[in-house]
Amino acid sequence: MFSSQSYYRLSSYYNKISDGKKVHKVSVDAGLSCPNRDGKISRQGCVYCDNRGFSLNSRVPLRPLKNQIEEGMGVLRKKFGAEKFVIYFQAYSNTYAPVEILRRNFDTVRQFPDVIGLSVATRPDCVDQDILKLLNSYAQDYDVWIEYGLQSAHNQTLERINRGHSLEDFLQAVNLTRKYKNIKICVHVIIGLPGETKGMILKTAKVIAGIKPEGVKIHPLHIIKNTQLHKMFQRQQYKPLSMEEYAKLACDFLENLPADTVIQRISADCPQDLLVAPSWILDKNKVLNRIGQLLKEENKFQGRLHKG
Ligand code: SF4
Repeated sequence: MFSSQSYYRLSSYYNKISDGKKVHKVSVDAGLSCPNRDGKISRQGCVYCDNRGFSLNSRVPLRPLKNQIEEGMGVLRKKFGAEKFVIYFQAYSNTYAPVEILRRNFDTVRQFPDVIGLSVATRPDCVDQDILKLLNSYAQDYDVWIEYGLQSAHNQTLERINRGHSLEDFLQAVNLTRKYKNIKICVHVIIGLPGETKGMILKTAKVIAGIKPEGVKIHPLHIIKNTQLHKMFQRQQYKPLSMEEYAKLACDFLENLPADTVIQRISADCPQDLLVAPSWILDKNKVLNRIGQLLKEENKFQGRLHKG
């Protein structure tokens, strides 16, 4: 599968599903909340969560979804020559609302004929049969993904970072989702979480591999201003990874994933003015190049160590 590259990139997947047309993602904010911030589970949120602009009880989208999509598509057409689009419901927990509100949100994409996909990021404890049934109904017309934030397969880490859910919650959500054959699953994971060893990180890769997800997003942990992680960093309770450490761990992680899992992301984005550390995440190309280089030098590739 990887003649000139050592992992299954999102661009290759998009190329496959769009007959070679240029596909880009438009990220939108539907104004939904998160139970780990609004008090249902906690008011602290995950230790790395940037709560800027977050009102504790409810949020409203900055602009109507239709406008966000229109504007996003316009920018991507102009900048990259994008022809087709995937609408990515990104901010907070995008299934944390009654089904009728979710339907109204997701239906917005129907106004745009160049949209070919729908990607919905959420927490594993924010889905049920009705929500998944709704999502599945869009699969007749769109490439439909649900993106579950797991971050680590270790409950002690999940507690340390105040995720407010367990590995078991995640596995339960995956089992429920698998009843809906047309929804693809993408798992979010973070490398460099406080207290995690290489062995723990690779165990997370194996647990994720075990559910055979269609996609994975791998992020390096970075510190955003005024988060709990920022305080831990100031108290010298947390030290971020170096770029080399991250790149090596990311390569090892890839080796343990199935070869046909789409790697939707293997770097991070953060506005410079919000970032505390590590500064290397700002040079995304350098990170991606280093990962590519290491894979090549060490004859590593996605799936090499995956059994099953
Ligand atoms: S689940 Fe997401 S939105 Fe909620 S607290 Fe954690 S990082 Fe923030």
